[in-house]
Amino acid sequence: MTKAVNSRSATAETGHHRDLSWPEPPEALPGAVIDNHAHLDFSDGEGSHGIEEHVAWADRVGVRGIITIGCDLPSARWTAEVMRGEHVAEEHRAFVRERLRGGCSIHPNDAVNHVVTGTGRSGEELCSLDEAIAEISELLDTPGMVTVGETGLDWFRTSKKKPEKRNAQIQSFRMHIALAKEKGLPMQIHDRDAHRDVLDVLDAEGAPERTVFHCFSGDAEFAREALERGAYLSFSGTSTFKNAAYLREALAVTPLNRIMVETDAPFLTPEPYRGRPNSSYLIPHTMRVIAEAKGVSLEEACAGVLATERDVYGFAGAEG
Ligand SMILES: [Zn+2]
Ligand SMILES: [Zn+2]
Repeated sequence: MTKAVNSRSATAETGHHRDLSWPEPPEALPGAVIDNHAHLDFSDGEGSHGIEEHVAWADRVGVRGIITIGCDLPSARWTAEVMRGEHVAEEHRAFVRERLRGGCSIHPNDAVNHVVTGTGRSGEELCSLDEAIAEISELLDTPGMVTVGETGLDWFRTSKKKPEKRNAQIQSFRMHIALAKEKGLPMQIHDRDAHRDVLDVLDAEGAPERTVFHCFSGDAEFAREALERGAYLSFSGTSTFKNAAYLREALAVTPLNRIMVETDAPFLTPEPYRGRPNSSYLIPHTMRVIAEAKGVSLEEACAGVLATERDVYGFAGAEG
C-alpha cells in the first residue's frame, strides 16, 4: 500500500459533498496512449488504492503509462522515492517500473509561499525559492524523471495585482525554464488565467525545445499562438465538459503530432463523471472527444497521441 502525501478535498467548490465512488471502467481503447500528467501523490475516492492499482486499472483500458507529477518539495521527494521503487510492494515493482515515470517542480502557487510568506500549506516553515529549486534540480537527476513541471503562472489562485506574488511566480517560471534547458528535459506549463503572460515569459526567456501546455485551457486562437512557438498541447477531462466548445475548437486546429492526453488526476474528472474521483483509467472518455474533434477514428487518434508522447518524453509506457 502507498502512503499518499496529499488528498483531494471531499467537498466540491460549491460546498457540497462529492460522490466519492469510482466511476466504472470505460471500454478499452483500440490503441495505447499514456497519461502524461497525473498526481499519484494525491489520494481520493473510496478505498485506499495504491500506485500499482492505478497503474493496473489504466493498463487494462490501454493507458500503458503514466507520468506522475510532484509539484512541491514533499511531493517531489515522494515522486523520486517512487522512481527508486519505494511505496510499491516488491511483487509489483517490475510492472510499475515499466509503466510509470515522474516529473517535479515547485508549482507557481507554492513558489509564492517560498518567496513571500515563508510558510507552507500546513503552516510549516519553508526554505528560500533558490534552495527549493536546487533540490528540485537534484531530484530531477533520479532515473525515471522525464519532465520539469508543472511550472508557469496562475492568476486564479494567486492575485496578479499583488506585485510581490506576481513577481515570485514569474521568477520561479524563469528558473524552471533554465532548469529544463540545463537538463535537456521537456517542461510542462501550468497556465491558469495567464495565457498572455505565459507567452510573454516564454518569448523573453526562449522556450525549452520541448514545451507542453498541461491541461490546455485556451481557445483556437491561443492554440495557434502556442503552436507557432513549437509547443505541445495536452488535453484533459475539461475538453469533455459541455461548456468547453472552445477546447474542442482548439483541438480542431492542433495537428495530432502536437496533441497529448492527460488526466491531472485525481482532479478534472471527465464527463459524465464530473466531481467524482479521477484516475488514468478514465482517459478513454477524453480520447473519444479528441478523435471526434479531429475527425479521425479512435484508433488513429490513439496512434497519433502516443507518437507525440513518445517523441517528447522518450516514453510510451509498456509495449504490446
Ligand atoms: Zn496544473
Ligand atoms: Zn497538475
